[in-house]
Amino acid sequence: MYRTHLCNQLRKSDISRTVTLSGWVNSRRDHGGVIFIDLRDREGLTQVVFRPEEHPQVAEASHALRGEDVIQVTGTVTARLAGTENPKLATGDIEVIAGELTLLNKADVPPFPLDDPSVNEDLRLQYRYLDLRTLRMQKNLRLRHRVTKAARDYMDSQGFLEIETPILSNPTPEGARDFLVPSRLSPGAFYALPQAPQQYKQLLQVAGLDKYFQIARCFRDEDLRADRQFEFTQIDIEMSFVTQEDIYSMAEGLMQALFAAGIEADITLPFPRITYADAMNRYGSDKPDTRFDMELVDLAGIFRESNFKVFRSVADSGGAIKAINAKASASLLSKEQLKKWEDWVKTEFGAKGLAYIKWSAGGEWESPIVKFFSETEKAAIAQKMDFAEGDVLFFGADKWQSVCDVLGRVRLRCADLLKLTANSSALNFLWVVDFPMFSWNPEENRWDAMHHPFTRPRDEDLHLLESGDFGKIRAQAYDIVLNGVELSSGSIRIHERELQAKIFKALGIGPEEQQIKFGHLLRAFSYGAPPHGGMAPGLDRIVMLMCGTDNIRDVIAFPKNNRGADLMTHSPVEVDFKQLRDLYLQSTAKKP
Ligand code: ASP
Repeated sequence: MYRTHLCNQLRKSDISRTVTLSGWVNSRRDHGGVIFIDLRDREGLTQVVFRPEEHPQVAEASHALRGEDVIQVTGTVTARLAGTENPKLATGDIEVIAGELTLLNKADVPPFPLDDPSVNEDLRLQYRYLDLRTLRMQKNLRLRHRVTKAARDYMDSQGFLEIETPILSNPTPEGARDFLVPSRLSPGAFYALPQAPQQYKQLLQVAGLDKYFQIARCFRDEDLRADRQFEFTQIDIEMSFVTQEDIYSMAEGLMQALFAAGIEADITLPFPRITYADAMNRYGSDKPDTRFDMELVDLAGIFRESNFKVFRSVADSGGAIKAINAKASASLLSKEQLKKWEDWVKTEFGAKGLAYIKWSAGGEWESPIVKFFSETEKAAIAQKMDFAEGDVLFFGADKWQSVCDVLGRVRLRCADLLKLTANSSALNFLWVVDFPMFSWNPEENRWDAMHHPFTRPRDEDLHLLESGDFGKIRAQAYDIVLNGVELSSGSIRIHERELQAKIFKALGIGPEEQQIKFGHLLRAFSYGAPPHGGMAPGLDRIVMLMCGTDNIRDVIAFPKNNRGADLMTHSPVEVDFKQLRDLYLQSTAKKP
């Protein structure tokens, strides 16, 4: 037997017992020839003392121990000397006097000090199994386990069945690039890894399974970011005979259960709701962070008659003129910084510029554009924007979407600068509803599905499908947003063959392509498909927010780095010619 107790278990009541512990040498101190060790396992630490007067050979052997050696110790639980107790440690009242020591595995010196958070992430990813030994990562993975379990328990309690769906599957459009797997048995053909189990979960509704969920791995070949990995996990959900309201209450209950299990938070239900149009107009984002105001204010009315040509022409052509007031930020934003912000919106978001008015305390309005404004316009701006000494106003004048996007980003950057959410423990959940069904793709000159093509338009907008007014069609689609992060997307689906075909057609997918790519779904819909809908909360992001990190890699045991590489196993790797030949493939990659 390797152990009688775990390293966080022993207390005063165990004094005089003979115990056996196994674990890692967390730290080692030599007090004049007496070796003290903190022995560590997943549960905690226990102090072990090697005393030469009682067990000379064992004490002698303990001198060779080093950090991360794996050992087994048998000894007697003893009270720590008065004054040397450690109240911070669960086992801080006792120590184990070692009578036997077995070195189970000698460790090399680790490539980095395990508990030093400043260690470069690539190095930690290269030795991920060491990084995972740290308290921080163990805490995160435990929290993830609790949340995953709570998800299963909650879904089960609501009558959902957990059903697995294939990983080798057909492409299903969720707006990303597919990962493809070549087929050996069907030369030249490919499977796609699921971007989401979207079609399968809908087919399970056609199959009459009624309430489905799955802790589902999804794969999307997109550029990686701090909160995005190629493979990620969703709590994938689909239900039959439901309205949006049914899904809202199910999902709110799920979030409540998850946040209670993960961080003992008691979240308030129901979540407030905001339409996509309002979210964009007021916050410049479809995932607004509502922990602070700084709302976008519409100024088009002020500039309808303006002599300032730039704004006037935008107002005349039906574009948007909006501004935000970054209260009390003038002292934090020098002219040089404002220039940098302008360069940032130009390069990152293709904005034409970033006009501002800065009003330093005791100073004048400083601005590249204010000389073009009339006194009436200035007064109107000051009044509408609640502009005061110490504030900076930022303006956007362009197409509506672009103004919202840019000012939305500037708003977040101002909040960062002003530390508006630092140390905030607020959990601002929000439903964003009534998303547009389609978005225009100017590069490819066609309409894209804003969510995915299986999303159901709002009934009152269906007639717009006939008139071709696609931009105005709203979808029965909804997101859950928390503190500016999109946690979940979903929609009521189309369950009728004809309507689904119409949507495909609107997306430029003709009858032949429909048959090839989605024939199975259209056919299924013609055999009695129930009305259905669902959603898919992102497990990684939920856990990430609970752990208080903005790095998704902190909550995934073996993530890829931001260049898509697994630094520990060195994947992706080149494969040899024969393996490629079996798959009827030949690489066209040029060696650098
Ligand atoms: N399949 C969707 C997604 O992954 C979610 C859903 O509509 O249920 O975003």
